[in-house]
Amino acid sequence: MRRGDDPSAGAHLHRQRVARVFGMSLVIVGAGQAAHQLAASLRERGYDAPVLIVGDEKHLPYHRPPLSKAYLTEPMDADRLTIASRSFYDGANITARLDCRVSGIDRESRQIVTAAGERIDYTKLVLATGSRNRVIEAFERVQGVFSVRRIDEAALLRAQLDEARQVVVIGGGLLGLEFACAARERRCDVVVIEAGHRVLARTLSTVTAARMHAHHEHAGIRFRVCASVAECLSTDGRVTGVLCLDGERIPADLVVVSIGIVPNAELAADAGLDVADGILVDQHYRTSDPTIHAIGDCARIVLSTDRGSVRHESVQNAIDQANGLARYLTEPGYVPGDLLPMFWSKQGKIMVNVVGRTVDSSDAIDFVVGDDGYCRLCFTGGELTGAECVNSMRQYRHVRRLLERGNRATLDQFGGGRTPAEIVATW
Ligand SMILES: Cc1cc2nc3c(=O)[nH]c(=O)nc-3n(C[C@H](O)[C@H](O)[C@H](O)COP(=O)(O)OP(=O)(O)OC[C@H]3O[C@@H](n4cnc5c(N)ncnc54)[C@H](O)[C@@H]3O)c2cc1C
Repeated sequence: MRRGDDPSAGAHLHRQRVARVFGMSLVIVGAGQAAHQLAASLRERGYDAPVLIVGDEKHLPYHRPPLSKAYLTEPMDADRLTIASRSFYDGANITARLDCRVSGIDRESRQIVTAAGERIDYTKLVLATGSRNRVIEAFERVQGVFSVRRIDEAALLRAQLDEARQVVVIGGGLLGLEFACAARERRCDVVVIEAGHRVLARTLSTVTAARMHAHHEHAGIRFRVCASVAECLSTDGRVTGVLCLDGERIPADLVVVSIGIVPNAELAADAGLDVADGILVDQHYRTSDPTIHAIGDCARIVLSTDRGSVRHESVQNAIDQANGLARYLTEPGYVPGDLLPMFWSKQGKIMVNVVGRTVDSSDAIDFVVGDDGYCRLCFTGGELTGAECVNSMRQYRHVRRLLERGNRATLDQFGGGRTPAEIVATW
């Protein structure tokens, strides 16, 4: 039913009451990194209308990166992962409704519907629903098999790592290798199974990935590349190993599945919004309904003509998109520009920072940094497009500055072994 169509005075009053509670409100679905940043950024920019965050986890927004790293290897209280305390949200007049799943969007009446059937009005709706882990059906519900996205899942994995001896990680991406390093640090035998012909194929150049592979092998992690899993071996419902398609049986008392994510776009799709491996948004983060925006892991930005679309899965992306949307909502005429992709990964003692486009570059310059670092500068058409920096934070910051400033650094400028720091100094 449309607003104003209902002739019943009682229903009208009820609508008004609901509208008074949440009227003119901005509602964010999902209480993760992007949701927190958007709410905080809106308040910083002087947005004073009600802001409501509705999330299905029990926790206030928290940092996910430690869940595959320090949280598994160091004693760490879950509270330390919280991005901001309850008093921050109270003080900023941001309402956080937790443990509350949103099951539908009624676009006609501009309301979200919770799993408990409650209807909440919105004036602007922002979908920040993130993503969920891809699963392997055959491994589901077998004890000792983990797939970590949430803090509760990481807590269970951490507890079982106390007892584990043989760990198999399925998936040689960034997170898979982080889990492998954490398990190795906990003194487990670790085997990584990767279906592709090399690890880190989606995120790092062949050269940097090969260096990482070698480093991890040296630390005792074993790899099976070009290997696919066929079956989860178990006894009495408890994992005992993994059977590969080539017949190899790899014993395991703990398995971590880390084979990528699926954007949480069903809420949008069910509401009739355009979706294709993510919720499609324009450069203002508007979905096909201009009152609804989407940011973070769940959003796929359709770029201007002929440039296709992109969806990023990183903390920096969630933060940048949230800040861009906050600015767009508070500054008339502001058009968010293209964002510079950035992510990091901490694998044991290795810190990898990546900025810009690297995997598909046509040229590269590699140089060693200090005792254990290196930096790979990537170029396309002779222009600097990105860098992969391993244990070389300083060079990373300089490349980032070069790319953020929009200065067109060229391959020629890096002749004679000049570093990004030296180039920046000349500008
Ligand atoms: C283990 C792990 C390690 C990572 N490490 C790194 C790293 O080192 N570096 C890096 O850059 N990135 C890392 N990431 C990725 C990074 O955490 C994400 O890109 C980032 O959290 C995305 O933010 P988001 O707000 O889009 O989604 P999320 O932070 O995932 O938040 C989305 C929230 O929405 C909730 N939600 C979904 N649907 C509904 C619904 N219908 N109703 C209510 N709530 C809903 C979800 O439960 C979730 O709480 C890591 C991720 C994981 C899981």
